[in-house]
Amino acid sequence: MVLAQLGGSISRAIQQMSNATIIDEKVLNECLNEITRALLQADVQFKLVREMQTNIKKIVNLDDLAAGHNKRRIIQQAIFNELCKMLDPGKPSFTPKKGKPSVIMFVGLQGSGKTTTCTKYAYYHQKKGWKPALVCADTFRAGAFDQLKQNATKAKIPFYGSYTESDPVRIAVEGVETFKKENCDLIIVDTSGRHKQEAALFEEMRQVSEATVNPDLVIFVMDSSIGQAAFDQAQAFKQSVSVGAVIVTKMDGHAKGGGALSAVAATKSPVIFIGTGEHMDEFEVFDVKPFVSRLLGMGDWSGFMDKIHEVVPMDQQPELLQKLSEGNFTLRIMYEQFQNILKMGPIGQVFSMLPGFSSELMPKGREKESQAKIKRYMTMMDSMTNEELDSSNPKLMNDSRIMRIARGSGRQVREVMEMLEEYKRLAKIWSKMKGLKIPKKGEMSALSRNMNA
Ligand code: GDP
Repeated sequence: MVLAQLGGSISRAIQQMSNATIIDEKVLNECLNEITRALLQADVQFKLVREMQTNIKKIVNLDDLAAGHNKRRIIQQAIFNELCKMLDPGKPSFTPKKGKPSVIMFVGLQGSGKTTTCTKYAYYHQKKGWKPALVCADTFRAGAFDQLKQNATKAKIPFYGSYTESDPVRIAVEGVETFKKENCDLIIVDTSGRHKQEAALFEEMRQVSEATVNPDLVIFVMDSSIGQAAFDQAQAFKQSVSVGAVIVTKMDGHAKGGGALSAVAATKSPVIFIGTGEHMDEFEVFDVKPFVSRLLGMGDWSGFMDKIHEVVPMDQQPELLQKLSEGNFTLRIMYEQFQNILKMGPIGQVFSMLPGFSSELMPKGREKESQAKIKRYMTMMDSMTNEELDSSNPKLMNDSRIMRIARGSGRQVREVMEMLEEYKRLAKIWSKMKGLKIPKKGEMSALSRNMNA
């Protein structure tokens, strides 16, 4: 995923610092310089990076830290907090309420993924019980209405637009009125894409904003690959309409993605969702702390728990969570989770929440191979005894058993060993859940805090 490289560089810098026998000013400076370089390379604005460095130095005063203090931990926490601060403007965005009509206007550069994101946003809320509707007030780009219509039809979401009307303000007003009458509670207005130099289009955007009876929320859609230009562009939008939230798209691509952090700073608005693909459901709620945890390789536990609730069948959830909280990750659990992954379609979403999984077992873009690998692992596990599957002690598997399993499943010994290595790796990660209170839906943030503490 995008920003993975940045996360890797930051984690490495922290790791190098940890390896030092004594953490003194020089070691800390080297670590901070490394992080600064990584952030700049990821296109985060220079001013923000400098601020972060100064803040960390202010917080981590090595002279004041008495011996016995865990300096590494304090520094790591300061870096974590500063990265969170960069992404968190400190005020939440407007959240629409079910049953009460809200008008949400989407703005952004042409090609940023605005129209696609409008539908994703509508579809996401529709699944959660909202009654969304889409209005195409983009009269600038030929084909915009057709695109919105096509997406909306696919998602069974009502839409409004016109092939003949050229006044976007009029379309916006009529569309919003129509859907208010139809008791839609989430009316989404897509506007023309524009560039910060296009004064006329900015004026049009302002007019649409005023005409839609002042939208409850203006969402700025930004392509994650925009790089250093992000700050200026985001600021230009903010100056014309009151942007209240940001959605960053194409987080699945190879872009550096640091622009997202700059956009937050420029608009003083939170990132609320990220787009992770062209499909309607490749859209994730964005939460700062889990995101930064993931970035630093600390694992996104709250996202992971959300996904467990979403994809593991209801009747299996309590048992699975119970076993995990006992620190009892057996080969059978791994087998059952592989079954769930294969059933759920776009694989890897659950496990990409865990450190280590996405890059090794399921690299993005190689889903087919990952799927084949999982199937192979399952075939090998089919040749195991119940005792082996239910044990969390891999020592049970001696050489002769490994050879038998390989023969029984028609695979190589090397492959069985690879599968067992994978199991050990996963068991180690999952063992962190031992002793945790099992959270119910809605209690995820507490869990996340525990895991990251
Ligand atoms: P607009 O001009 O801002 O309305 O942009 P569109 O919605 O037409 O999107 C431009 C292109 O980006 C289309 O090909 C979309 O399929 C693609 N796109 C949008 N969001 C994402 C995303 O999150 N990931 C990827 N890979 N492509 C996206």
